Amino acid sequence: MTIQQKLSRLPQVNECLNSAPGKQWLRSFYRAVVVKSIREVIDEKRGEILAGESPEITLDALAADIEEAIKKHSAYKLRPLINASGVVIHTNLGRSILSEQAIRNVVAVAGSYSNLEYEISQGKRGKRYSHIKDIITELTGAEDAIVVNNNAAAVLICLDTFARGKEAVVSRGELVEIGGSFRVPEVMKSSGAILREVGTTNKTHLYDYSNAVCGNTGLFLKIHQSNYKIVGFTEEVTIENLAKIGREFKVPVAADLGSGCVINLEKYGIHDETTVQVVIKQGADLVTFSGDKLLGGPQAGIIVGKKRYVQKIQKNPMLRAMRIDKMTFAALEATFMQYLDEEKALRHIPTMRMLTQPGGEIKKRARRILNLLKKLPDGTAGLEIIPDQSRAGGGSLPEADFPTFALSIRPRKISVNELEKRLRRGETPVIARIKEQELLIDARTVLDNEVKVLAGCIIAALVK
Ligand SMILES: *Cc1c(COP(=O)(O)O)cnc(C)c1O
Repeated sequence: MTIQQKLSRLPQVNECLNSAPGKQWLRSFYRAVVVKSIREVIDEKRGEILAGESPEITLDALAADIEEAIKKHSAYKLRPLINASGVVIHTNLGRSILSEQAIRNVVAVAGSYSNLEYEISQGKRGKRYSHIKDIITELTGAEDAIVVNNNAAAVLICLDTFARGKEAVVSRGELVEIGGSFRVPEVMKSSGAILREVGTTNKTHLYDYSNAVCGNTGLFLKIHQSNYKIVGFTEEVTIENLAKIGREFKVPVAADLGSGCVINLEKYGIHDETTVQVVIKQGADLVTFSGDKLLGGPQAGIIVGKKRYVQKIQKNPMLRAMRIDKMTFAALEATFMQYLDEEKALRHIPTMRMLTQPGGEIKKRARRILNLLKKLPDGTAGLEIIPDQSRAGGGSLPEADFPTFALSIRPRKISVNELEKRLRRGETPVIARIKEQELLIDARTVLDNEVKVLAGCIIAALVK
């Protein structure tokens, strides 16, 4: 058969649509997706024919490929997966996951009209930010609060409001980069603030700050060294001391906490993370932190502090471009509300629960996964539960220890890299970590209701 003859035998799009499977596809999927998928498969076969091959091109032969293409195009690109990496606030995997309560509140507000900017008691226009203010100030002890899209925006609007065209004084030990896209010097530049670096990498003294004050000083800014630590011969200025000279020179003091924890985690062996409440008590005029790092809520940037400064930010027209959506409000309000009962917050806010979960509970979950793998044929893989280390992630708590238990899988029929890839590309993707010749499934970040599905994914990947 000549190439021409082969090409002429390729089915037409309409033929495929009118076939029995075609009619079935049109009942179950969007027409545009079905047509696109048919075209794609026909084009692929045409390419093969032009390359001199002789693929099977009956409708029946194409149906499976078309159906696969339809399914691929119908699936959402953003989709849930199982985080078995042990990194709790995994930036690439969506940072914090929401609590049940937060999710319920999002669903309620998303599907109904709400009083987002409406004062129900007065029957008139209300303020978007007023709903959340009370709960945040109650928890943090701050006078006032406002919320923007993320913490980068929170820092940016603080700089814009108090240091546009003026100097923002920052220690050289705190000129951090967080995840590549947030670098303090660059954020400063884009805000129009002039960065006035003081001190040295390892030591900054109070006099470094006071000596830097001039007629054009707009802000003292302290930045949490989120993802690194300077150790040894070091000195930094406390918020208390900075607040003193702030008052003396009438320069506001802002602290960017990054993670922003509202529970003292000392008794869970997590040190070095000063809570928002303490920083407010120490006298910071403004404190900024993320909604989806240690707080365990939705992506947001929270600004708390003295009323007169927060009110000034409230009047900044830039706020309109950073305002948060009603779904974020719903999730954030519910998350903050859960902190009214510390014990419940630790139990029900996933990020908090994962970070403070006792080893025994993590081990129990690892065992449950292992038990479900008993049905694997002999010789498929070596399986055992081993102690390992998890991480907080998200640039949070870089120094803290998170001893964990992981299921170690040593595949016998395929390489460990192949197993990692199969798990990642499965129907429900599983993100695990490789440690030398083992694949580790860290039970800390696996949810209880994911255990069964996860075991199924592991079995499927090992015996494919
Ligand atoms: C993470 C972080 C930010 C950025 O917060 P996003 O919520 O990611 O915008 C800013 N400052 C510090 C110190 C951080 O750790």
